Amino acid sequence: MNIAALEEQLALLPIAQYTFFRTDELVFSERVRTICEQECPRFGTSWACPPAVGSVAQCRETCLSYPDGLLIATLTEVEDIADMAQTLATRPAHEAVTRKVAELLRAQGLDVYPLSADSCASCEECTYLSAPCRHPRQMFPCVESHGIVVTVLAEKYGIDCQYGGNIVTWFSLLLYRE
Ligand code: SF4
Repeated sequence: MNIAALEEQLALLPIAQYTFFRTDELVFSERVRTICEQECPRFGTSWACPPAVGSVAQCRETCLSYPDGLLIATLTEVEDIADMAQTLATRPAHEAVTRKVAELLRAQGLDVYPLSADSCASCEECTYLSAPCRHPRQMFPCVESHGIVVTVLAEKYGIDCQYGGNIVTWFSLLLYRE
C-alpha cells in the first residue's frame, strides 16, 4: 500500500483523527454483545447487526483475517447532543466519509472490510430475514456488532473519544488485506 498517497487523500476528507493499527490489537468483548442484545433496538432487525453478523468469536475470526486496519474519527457539532435525532442526523455524513475511505483503500488493490458507526440505514426497511441484503457492498456492520471495544484502541493511539460539549464523535474501522 502507498501510505503517503493515501494520507494525502485522507487529508482532503473531513476526518478529525485517524490511525493505522494491527487487528491483533483489537479487544473483543462479549459484554459489548450483551449491550447490543439488551439495549439496542436494532438487535435482530438488520443484516448489519447481531445475531446476523455471527457470534463474537466468528466476528473476531473474520476481523483477524484482515491483518491491518485504519481507524477514522469524524466530529460534528450539534445544538444539543442530548437530542438523539440531532445526533443521529450527523451519521450519514460519517457514513459517506467511511465509504470514500473504503473506495480509496480498494483503489490501492486492497480487500477491505469496513465497520462503521451504528446500524446500517441504507434502506428504509431492512430485508432482514425476508430476503438477502440489498446492498451487501454498501452495508457496513457497526463496530460494536463485532464485540469490539473501540475506545481501547482509540486511547492506545491518542485518539480522543469524548470532546465534550455538543460534539458528536463517530468512529469507523476499515480492516484490510493485500
Ligand atoms: S443495505 Fe438494506 S438490506 Fe442490507 S443491511 Fe442495510 S438496510 Fe438491511
